[in-house]
Amino acid sequence: NPQEPWKPFNRSRVYMADLESTLHYSLRVELAAHTVIKGEALTSLKKYISVLAKYFPGRPVVMNLLESLNSRLQTGDEISYKAFRETLDNTAQSPDTALPEGVRWVGCQGSQPHFRRYPCGVWTLFHVLTVQAKNARGTDPREVLSAMRSYVHSFFGCRACAEHFEIMASESLAEVNTLSSAVLWLWSRHNRVNNRLAGALSEDPNFRKIQWPSPEMCPACHSVKENGEHRWSQEQVFPFLMSYFSSSTILTDYLE
Ligand code: FAD
Repeated sequence: NPQEPWKPFNRSRVYMADLESTLHYSLRVELAAHTVIKGEALTSLKKYISVLAKYFPGRPVVMNLLESLNSRLQTGDEISYKAFRETLDNTAQSPDTALPEGVRWVGCQGSQPHFRRYPCGVWTLFHVLTVQAKNARGTDPREVLSAMRSYVHSFFGCRACAEHFEIMASESLAEVNTLSSAVLWLWSRHNRVNNRLAGALSEDPNFRKIQWPSPEMCPACHSVKENGEHRWSQEQVFPFLMSYFSSSTILTDYLE
């Protein structure tokens, strides 16, 4: 609803309302474009739901839902969207299992309806998942990024975005060998995208594309080389990301 009133929010925090809205949009809108999901797309969906079931820092009702989707996908070599949707919306039988309907963008609100929202939610979701996988000591350092890569490749509605992301992933995802470097890889690739998009028509004038985090948000993350050029202090950026996207700092304002 473009007439929705603006929700005041803290620009330097992550909101669960954005993460749940992203899941709603991904599972009920983006996937709905596929009548039958099989082959490579089914593999992508399984990997995506599996990392969500393992690492999404959600409310118990949402975690129960992700777990039931995950079990539903264990059998069969294809699934119709209709069958997937039945599991997704099957709350009558299990009232403690649900993904809230609809979107409530908070940290991902845009100053116009065509700005921010779902793509902002997708970045936020995967930053959170890389951080959660690190905290959970996941066994495969590329598990979350590989799930993101294949989800974006198979389903992300912005096809030009998907092509750009696939190029970055094919160039350097193989070099990610630790859970910490997965967190940093996504941060640095997101900054490359920000750099490419700064000043573009898709940029919300109230949310400029910057090399993130700004010096105001994390002074210690920025330093200067001997020749005067900017340099990131990765040893400072890493703990900043671990804290910024940590499940313990996610705000629950505006949830249903
Ligand atoms: P976003 O870039 O969506 O970022 C969301 C939030 O994440 C920011 O508000 C900030 O809090 C935080 N953040 C910003 N930078 C970083 C960082 N480096 N590390 C961690 N957190 C950060 N749009 C195009 O026009 N062309 C493309 O090719 C394109 N490719 C995309 C590829 C992917 C995989 C995705 C998910 C989106 C892509 N988009 C692309 C959309 C674009 O990147 C933005 O998501 C969209 O323009 C909305 O921007 P935003 O201002 O909400 O900030």
